[in-house]
Parts: sequence; structure tokens; C-alpha cells
Amino acid sequence: MRYLYGPIPSSRLGQSLGVDPVPLKTCNWNCVYCQLGRSTPMVHERREYVPRAAVIAELKEALAGGIGPVDWVSFVGSGEPTLHVGLGWMIRAAKAETTLPIAVITNGSLLYLPEVREELCAADLVMPTLAAADEQVYRRIHRPHPEATFARQVDGLAAFRKLYRGQFWIEVMLIRGLNDDAATLDGLARLLRALAPDQVHLTLPNRPPAEPWVMPPDDEGLMRAVSILGQWAHVVHPAGGAFALPPGTPLVDGIIDIIARHPMSDGQVRALVAQDAPGEVEAVLARLAADVRAQVIERHGTCFWIKAGSVFGGNGHRPNVAVQEPVTQNTAI
Ligand code: SF4
Repeated sequence: MRYLYGPIPSSRLGQSLGVDPVPLKTCNWNCVYCQLGRSTPMVHERREYVPRAAVIAELKEALAGGIGPVDWVSFVGSGEPTLHVGLGWMIRAAKAETTLPIAVITNGSLLYLPEVREELCAADLVMPTLAAADEQVYRRIHRPHPEATFARQVDGLAAFRKLYRGQFWIEVMLIRGLNDDAATLDGLARLLRALAPDQVHLTLPNRPPAEPWVMPPDDEGLMRAVSILGQWAHVVHPAGGAFALPPGTPLVDGIIDIIARHPMSDGQVRALVAQDAPGEVEAVLARLAADVRAQVIERHGTCFWIKAGSVFGGNGHRPNVAVQEPVTQNTAI
């Protein structure tokens, strides 16, 4: 599969079949917490990054082939999906193929464009990001393209909120020392009150962040966030579902399809292989380690498998041997 991955367990969407309409790290932000590494270079131009008809043909094939339980079809993946100029067409085409609800996970930075707002209206659920309450914090967290300003972000979210009739869920990624102080949280509370989203999710950088110094808030910071934002928001905890591969997908290829969009801890990879081929865990891990498409990054004591070519601050490397790590619970993060 080139444009689809999963289904994967999502903390906010249950079992999510991912549709990826842009190549790796095609994004106009360069978030310090990005699980896909740094955006090099950033792009702000909307283009036909991959052939839209091919994306929908692959979705049609996957739906016909039986993909197991799926709660949402989600446009998300290797970067910012609204950068694809055919996103609205793909959402409408996907809806013609399935009765499953369609979600778009976006940074929201292009919602200042009327055509992007119009295109996203076709989705059942839109999930933008809002992690800062002023330009300075916005720039420190997201390190955006010069065209993607904080004013445009806020104006775009407000304009879309007025237009959109589907579910509108905002994600607030909390980072220690960047947006867990009282002034920033008070500012976020004011913005959220004005935007009146259907749901607000407080998330933590639990997946490998692009920059090694990125940490979740400490207990005090998290309590402060819950106390200031708790009227609208709740903390989203790691999902408990299982990763799955489409029937017939070779294990190493399927794992690489997932880690290109969603890093997996070594324990998660082992649990996925154990589901499909219980006697082959070590052999598959050794093949993955030898595959030039995969690499390993260590963050806060956990080894994650990520796509080779991803650029992380710190110690991403190609393993020569399978990474050894105690098998952990098969939970998505
Ligand atoms: S987290 Fe999302 S918006 Fe931020 S750099 Fe990564 S892909 Fe782009």
C-alpha cells in the first residue's frame, strides 16, 4: 500500500484507517514535538503531491479486500494533508466508496484560505491543532513557514467554525516549559471559549519528538492545564487497541508503511508480529533492522522504529541488529 496504512489504534478515533495524501514530512510547520522528525524543507504551496485518483483506487481496493474493524477513515499521515490541492475531491470520493465516517487531522494553518475551508466541509470530523495563544509561543512550538502566521491560524479556525456543520475537535499539545504556564493556558482558554469546539483534547508528546529536549508537562503543569482548560478539555491517554495489517501484506512492508506515518515502539512492533506470526518475531525484527527503509530513534528510554530518512535531533540511527527492548504492552501512543 502506498497511500494507506493501518488500521492503527488511535487514542481519539478508535481503529483508524489512515489515508496519506502527501510524501514524508510535507508540511508548513516544523513542530518541536513532531513524531515524523523535522520538516526539511518546509513547504506552504498546495499541490497535487500524489495522484488523487491513485489514493482513492487504493482505498477502494482496501475496503473491498476486508480490513478488519475500522471506526474512521482518517486523512492524516506524513505531513499536512490540506497541502494536497485535491483534498476536497478525495474526501468526497472516499465518501462515495464507504459509509465509514471521514476525519481529517490537520494543523489548521491553511484554514485562512476559503477554498481549504470549503474542501474540509465534506468531512465528518475535522481535528485541528491549537497549542499557543500568541505569536511568540506559536513560533517556538511550531517553527512555521513565514506564510503560516499565528493571526492566520486563529482567523482560519474562527472562520471555519462559523461555516462547518460537522464535528470540530481541537487538539492542544502540552509541552513542558513552552505552553504549560498560567498565562499561555489562560490565553488558550480565551481562544477555546470563542471557538466553541465540540471537543478539546489535551495531548502529550508521548511519541518520539523531533527534538530530544521536548517533554510532557510535569504533574504540576498538567494539573494547571486541567484546572484552567478542564471546563472544555480532557486529557487523552494512549489508545489500547492493536495495530493491524491489511490481509496478505508482507510483515516488514506493512510495518514500514505504518512507521512512515506513525512511529512504533519496539514493543509495539513485537506485539504486531506476534499476532500474525508468533514464531517469527525475532526473524522479522532482524529483517526490519536490515531493511534500509527503517531506522531507530531513542527517546526517554524507549526505542522507536521510524522511517529511514526522517530527520530527528539527537540519535536516530540505522540499526545493524534488532533493537533489544523489553516487550511492552501493545498500546498505541
Ligand atoms: S506535527 Fe503535524 S503539523 Fe507539526 S510538523 Fe509534524 S506533520 Fe507538521
